[in-house]
Amino acid sequence: MKIVIMLGAPGAGKGTIASRINEKLPGTVHLSSGDLLRGAVKAGTVAGLEAKGYMDAGKLVPDTLIASMIEEYIGANGAIKLLILDGFPRTVPQAEMLDQALAKRGEKVDSVIKLNVPDALVLERLGGRRMCPACGAGYHVLTLPPQVEGVCDACQASLITRSDDNPETIANRLSVYHQQTVPLVDLYDEKGILCSINAAGELSLIVEDTVKALA
Ligand code: AMP
Repeated sequence: MKIVIMLGAPGAGKGTIASRINEKLPGTVHLSSGDLLRGAVKAGTVAGLEAKGYMDAGKLVPDTLIASMIEEYIGANGAIKLLILDGFPRTVPQAEMLDQALAKRGEKVDSVIKLNVPDALVLERLGGRRMCPACGAGYHVLTLPPQVEGVCDACQASLITRSDDNPETIANRLSVYHQQTVPLVDLYDEKGILCSINAAGELSLIVEDTVKALA
């Protein structure tokens, strides 16, 4: 299994770009830690109940909680060719837990794509973000609107604004990103596997740059 990490602020486009790569590189699976956690909250599992309060406040859930969910997923899906991790790891201890879990399988992180977006643009993007609660597809009221306002193109469900996409929680998530996730940039750069991409421009060009970086 080839493992790629998408690193970037909330709203940098990790999920949008990862899902487009699926279409360009067959055999790719996009795993979003946020989707995994939202699924657990919706299902009312023990992990979901523990995670909910942290998520609603824009804080990170405990490292071991999310790391064990990701390890379990990888263990159960060993046949995947290319796994894109979106939103995990988000702290140095999570990165260490991931390395240990992969080492047990004789695997490692192959590359890390860092999406660079200024904070002002992140705020603009998150404010207009909408998502499909049924299939997880992402939209933006200005830059990526659905064909029919408020309706998912893929499955026709009514779109929602994520409960943590409100101004106060967005500010918390951004500050958590700077404090806890940015240190991963140096860590992966030192390992020689980091590739930085300007993610402020046109989506199709960003996807192209990302695919080139993975080739
Ligand atoms: P996301 O959809 O990636 O923006 O994640 C939504 C929320 O889920 C975050 O604000 C965190 O509360 C939680 N979360 C997602 N991934 C992680 C992670 N790797 N570590 C800790 N918390 C996470």
